[in-house]
Amino acid sequence: MTTKVRARFAPSPTGEPHVGNIRTAIFGWLFARHHGGEFIIRVEDTDQARKVDGATEMMLASLKWLGLDWDEGPDIGGPHGPYEQSQRLQLYRDAVDSLLSTGAAYRCSCTSERLSALREQQQRDGSDRIGYDGKCRDRDSDETRELAKSGESHVVRFRMLDTGTTEAVDIIRGDVSFENALYDDFVVLKSDGFPTYHLANVVDDHHMEITHVTRAVEWLSSLPLHIQLYQAFGWDAPEFAHLPLILATDRTKLSKRHGATSVLEFREMGLLPETLLNFLTMLGWSLDDKTEIFTAQELTEHFSLERVSRSDAVFDFDKLNWMNGVHIRETSADRFADAMLDYWTQYPPDEFPMAPDREFALRIVPLTHDRIKSLPDVAPLVSFLLRERIDYDDEELIQRGMDIESTCRVLQASQDGLARLESFDSAAIEALLRPMAKGLDIKVGQVLGTLRVAATGLKVSPPIFETLEVMGQERAVRSIHAALDRLSTGMSRYS
Ligand code: GLU
Repeated sequence: MTTKVRARFAPSPTGEPHVGNIRTAIFGWLFARHHGGEFIIRVEDTDQARKVDGATEMMLASLKWLGLDWDEGPDIGGPHGPYEQSQRLQLYRDAVDSLLSTGAAYRCSCTSERLSALREQQQRDGSDRIGYDGKCRDRDSDETRELAKSGESHVVRFRMLDTGTTEAVDIIRGDVSFENALYDDFVVLKSDGFPTYHLANVVDDHHMEITHVTRAVEWLSSLPLHIQLYQAFGWDAPEFAHLPLILATDRTKLSKRHGATSVLEFREMGLLPETLLNFLTMLGWSLDDKTEIFTAQELTEHFSLERVSRSDAVFDFDKLNWMNGVHIRETSADRFADAMLDYWTQYPPDEFPMAPDREFALRIVPLTHDRIKSLPDVAPLVSFLLRERIDYDDEELIQRGMDIESTCRVLQASQDGLARLESFDSAAIEALLRPMAKGLDIKVGQVLGTLRVAATGLKVSPPIFETLEVMGQERAVRSIHAALDRLSTGMSRYS
């Protein structure tokens, strides 16, 4: 490719970012990064009625979390804010003026009442063309300009070709062709002076020198409108790639009723961003028919639009969870600690009495890394490490087949043995406790069960030798001592 690739993501801020939108962003980003090109974010916010407060912020938070960085943009709210169409209205008005001056567009003063009456009539007549009938097409343009000046409410419509076909090439779908007669003269400028999506989108893609447009297949039917606009302006059109639909496993369009669909929900559920990036990329793209696990870097290396499928992609939640397990296991200790910290900062766990630091996150990696499916599983396993007092009922210390007296012997011997250990690591702890159990003639499982409750308050915990090591000698011995105290007070109470 000789010219520098410039791809873009052009979200409309109309709600929480759906995985479909983000998949579009990911493909644009991967394509740009693969070619060493630029990736631009443009917020398409000219439809004031559909604009939702906070939607842009959620979108940007989703992109940042996934590691999709972007290039350039005005300094709105910090460096490289995204472009926002509402800040560029003059550009669109000038573009509309140029279309008016060449006659490629015209003013239309049909009222909404007339248009809905027309539609009803067409429906009653069973007409195969429902839509605008071109009533204002041939009005005198000087006259309509004067009327507009004197305050006549109007929109501006683009004059579509009414015969022949509009041809284009889609990178994924190949040659595509559209019957012009099926398309109405669409609105480019609304009566409130805001451009429509079609106009602003084309004007911006041109001015931003976008070379490749990647977007959802829903937009394919708008392509002839855009192609004709490019032709009317005398501009070269970018290349287009319309991405496949995302369906749920029941083969209907993925929606809320299938489960989480917003990226931030997946974040809250404790998926790693690398999982979601990998998973969403596989919704449409593949390298071959077997490789499924990729890092962001590998995706960037291999991605190509030619390998995006035309067929619908299926979003399988079970597969997503499986993939998260794989990414968690494959990630480095450092990265895993960062992912945990990031998660706890966003969603502080109820179990934690205080915000943990990086040192803590790194310390617990050996206890959790291989044992969890998603990030929220971590806090309940390790919160005891952040608490001064461990919560449990005294009876829980007493294992099946044991009594207070034998349990106290276990606790006493463990406390003494652990306090004497010179190097307090899991191997040394194990080498102490196993023979100790034998010497006491008590099963290892019983000894470890008691120590687990004494040290963690949990019936199920990470392996106890590692857990004791992570607790550290002083704290481990102290917690066993406290258990002994509790039981011996009980013993005197019961004797
Ligand atoms: N604003 C449109 C959307 O949210 C962009 C479509 C396009 O990329 O052209 O889907």
